[in-house]
Amino acid sequence: MQRCEHLEEIKPVTPSAEGCEDCLKIGGRWVHLRLCETCGHVGCCDSSPNRHATKHYHATRHPIIKSFEKGEDWGYCYVDDLFYETLPEAES
Ligand SMILES: [Zn+2]
Ligand SMILES: [Zn+2]
Ligand SMILES: [Zn+2]
Repeated sequence: MQRCEHLEEIKPVTPSAEGCEDCLKIGGRWVHLRLCETCGHVGCCDSSPNRHATKHYHATRHPIIKSFEKGEDWGYCYVDDLFYETLPEAES
């Protein structure tokens, strides 16, 4: 499987909220949730009106997200536009 250098930026994170943290602030709605693997920010996917996960990447340059949907553990690197079926665990 192809891997990228950004896997090193995966940290042991605690999700920031049960839903999209930015949508919760503004009363927005989301479709699916994504978890930032660098800081634990929970944001909404690109099918959601506000696309907060992608906005979080542009604001912070945190490269790797993971699905925050039950039963899904795929991940994605924004920098390399690379999908991972599963992400490695954070090194502690
Ligand atoms: Zn990468
Ligand atoms: Zn959102
Ligand atoms: Zn982040």
